[in-house]
Amino acid sequence: MSRLDGRVALVTGASRGIGRGIALRLARDGAAVAVNYRFDEAAADQVVAEIAGAGGRALSVSGDVAMAADVASMVNRAVKELGGIHILVNNAGIAADMLTVRLSEEDWDRVVDTDLKGAFLTTKAALRPMMRQRWGRIINIASVVAYTGNAGQASYAAAKAGMVGLTKSVAREVATRGITANAVAPGLIDTEMTQRLPEEIRTWMLDQIPMDKPGAVDDVAAAVAFLAGDEASYITGQVLNVDGGMVML
Ligand code: NDP
Repeated sequence: MSRLDGRVALVTGASRGIGRGIALRLARDGAAVAVNYRFDEAAADQVVAEIAGAGGRALSVSGDVAMAADVASMVNRAVKELGGIHILVNNAGIAADMLTVRLSEEDWDRVVDTDLKGAFLTTKAALRPMMRQRWGRIINIASVVAYTGNAGQASYAAAKAGMVGLTKSVAREVATRGITANAVAPGLIDTEMTQRLPEEIRTWMLDQIPMDKPGAVDDVAAAVAFLAGDEASYITGQVLNVDGGMVML
C-alpha cells in the first residue's frame, strides 16, 4: 500500500515544470491525478500517459485557473471521473517581470488573476467536496519573493504574498474539518520559467543561495508529497521554503 493510495489530486499547471514533477510524484505515491493544463494538451496527455505507464491513474483536464467556469469544470471532472478531490495543488503561475514604473495595468492583472485569484477560485471549488469527505490538503506553490520582494517582480511578489495570506486564512477556516492548507515557497528551481531569466539575474540569485545551486523540480515535489500525506495532518497554515537556504526566517 502506497502512502497516497485512495486519494485524488488536482494539480494546476501540470503540463510542464514544477507542476508536472508534482503530478508524477503524487501519482508515484499512489494518488490518482487530474493533470490541469491551459494550452498544451499534448504535454498534459504525455504526463497522463507516463502515469498510466507506471500503473497509476490520471486524467488531463483543460482550463484557465483565472476563469471560475473552467475551474468548476476541472474540479467536477476530478470528482466524477477519479472519485473525489483530496489534494489540491495550486501550482499554475506566471510572471511578467517589469519595473513598477513601467508595469502595465494589463500585466499586473494577468499575473494577479492567475497566481492569486486562480488559487482562490480552485480552493473555493474544491472546499465543498473536501468538507464532505472530511479530509483535504490544499498546497499552494508560492515563492520566497513573497517575503523578500524582488525588483522587477512587484506583481508576482504581491500575488505570491497574497497567496500566503490566502493559505493562512483558509487554514484557520477549515482546521476542524480534517483539511489543512499550507504553502511551499521555492527559491530558484530549474524550469522553463527560470531558463528565461537574464543571465545576470540568475547569477545574482545563485549568489544568494548558501547551497550555491538551483533546486530541482523533484525537491519541490518531495515537499508537496510530504504535506499531502497523513503524516502532515497536524501541520497547517505554514510556509515551507524549498530554496537551498536562500531565505531563512
Ligand atoms: P512554468 O512556466 O514552467 O510552468 C507553469 C505552468 O502553469 C504551465 O504548465 C502553464 O501552462 C501553467 N499555467 C500558467 N497559467 C495558467 C492558467 N491561467 N491556467 C492554468 N495553467 C496555467 O513554471 P514553473 O514550473 O517554473 O513554476 C510553477 C509554479 O512554481 C509557479 O506558480 C511559479 O510561480 C512557482 N515558482 C517557481 C519558481 C522557479 O524557480 N521555477 C520559484 C518560485 C515559485 P500554460 O503554458 O499552458 O499556461
